[in-house]
Amino acid sequence: MRRDMKTRRVLDGFEAYGWETPTREIAAEVGLKPQQVVRLDTNTSQYQPVAAMRKLASVLREIRVNDYPDTSYHGLAEGLSRYIGKGLERIVVTNGADEGLDIVAKVFIDQDDEVVIPTPTYSMYRIGAQLMGAKVKQIPRRADFGLDVEKVLEAVGPRTKVIYLCNPNNPTGNFSPVADVERIAKESGAAVVVDEAYFEMCGKTAIDLTDRYENIIVCRSMSKAFSMAGVRVGYLVAKEETVAQLSKVRPPNSLSVLSVILGGAGLANLGEMRKNVRATVRERQSLFKRLTEMNESLTPFPSEANFILFKLRHARAGDVHRRLMERGLVLRNLSHVRGVENCLRTTVGTPQTNRRLLAELKRALEN
Ligand code: PMP
Repeated sequence: MRRDMKTRRVLDGFEAYGWETPTREIAAEVGLKPQQVVRLDTNTSQYQPVAAMRKLASVLREIRVNDYPDTSYHGLAEGLSRYIGKGLERIVVTNGADEGLDIVAKVFIDQDDEVVIPTPTYSMYRIGAQLMGAKVKQIPRRADFGLDVEKVLEAVGPRTKVIYLCNPNNPTGNFSPVADVERIAKESGAAVVVDEAYFEMCGKTAIDLTDRYENIIVCRSMSKAFSMAGVRVGYLVAKEETVAQLSKVRPPNSLSVLSVILGGAGLANLGEMRKNVRATVRERQSLFKRLTEMNESLTPFPSEANFILFKLRHARAGDVHRRLMERGLVLRNLSHVRGVENCLRTTVGTPQTNRRLLAELKRALEN
């Protein structure tokens, strides 16, 4: 980076987000058509949100894209309020969970403050905090990826402003007891972000703690269970006083009018989301069992999300990743991430995709 451009010093040597390679580029590289490539690296849903798309089609002529959206995101916010059973004053609607994380960092972190992040986990916590000038303390999870509550609390100092807990955790898939979340919030006094992007696949939540603790902020997403990663809707849930602070930095128009309609329609059709989640959970169990049967070659880790992490025992994860990609299956290669060395992560697919994945995986391991 050229210093004379005077970009911020924090960007020198900064480790940016590892963007997923576009499907078009992967297809060209391995000599397949884009439609032959299956993305199992983004933990998104395999199903389209049919009812919401139908709703969008039916109102298309009336949508006024020349106007800004109603900045209270009326309709969508009310749908969220009904869905989670908390009042509107407890919710901040965001452009995906990522914007929620960004808002939290802007609200709590001053230059040279500290944040604590149990790792391995979602990289946007580190990125958002570092961009605000924070020093990041990464605390390794235990061998089973459980939270090391004592170590997390030991890492907390007078300048610790935020602790990031991903639950269930990406990329490991395990869930940490709500009692641990509560203890960390109570004993640290720092803001505790509980990222529940995968909540629906697990059903357990710390959301009721936000009734009592002003330092707990639950971060959620419609990207996964609601099949709306391309729509960009997320939300933060906290105590009313905390929401007032979070709302101060929320941009006025970060959702599009299309997102507001699609998100609202998704919430008006919870049955469809729940059916898809049930199918995903069933498939997760079956895929996990099949992966367990391959215990000569790999070890899968139990997951409460819509993805499964597994460690290659003999083969190199990078090689297996490459071979699967050549066959049109794109998994997340985590072989360079500390704590999950030689691991791959796959989204749980449809029964058909999972059969294909298992067959190709066996083939890739024979090579
Ligand atoms: N949190 C976690 C743990 C995630 O895995 C992701 C996306 N992969 C996000 C947040 C971001 O979600 P969104 O699409 O709502 O911005």
